[in-house]
Amino acid sequence: MDPVTERAPKIVKSDEEWRELLNPAEYHVLRQAGTERPFTGEYTDTKTVGSYTCRACGAELFRSETKFDSHCGWPSFFTPLAGDAVIERPDNSLGMRRVEVLCASCHSHLGHVFAGEGYGTPTDLRYCINSVSLRLVPDPR
Ligand SMILES: [Zn+2]
Repeated sequence: MDPVTERAPKIVKSDEEWRELLNPAEYHVLRQAGTERPFTGEYTDTKTVGSYTCRACGAELFRSETKFDSHCGWPSFFTPLAGDAVIERPDNSLGMRRVEVLCASCHSHLGHVFAGEGYGTPTDLRYCINSVSLRLVPDPR
């Protein structure tokens, strides 16, 4: 994984503004780094072709072509969009050494990325992302 390159968010809102914009489940995951329960998210098994955007700010984060069946209970991608759509930073909470994935535009929490699990994807990375952090924008037919 690339070293963490953390930049200031382009989109800055107060806590009050985020609470108004997001429903309680979205707010808990995106702004309080919560995790939705496995196998409950609306995009866990979605195959629709399109872009996954940040539910907080609308930035494009992932493409459906990089989504794969991880059977872990959350939408899983082997890479984010090219460039710097997401920020990765160490997360040692809950007694685990994990890497948190954040939206680069608004610094909302998306999920975590895991390496070397042997999924046989091009990157051997699993971006394990909460459905509630994403909004699927299907490609026009
Ligand atoms: Zn965002």
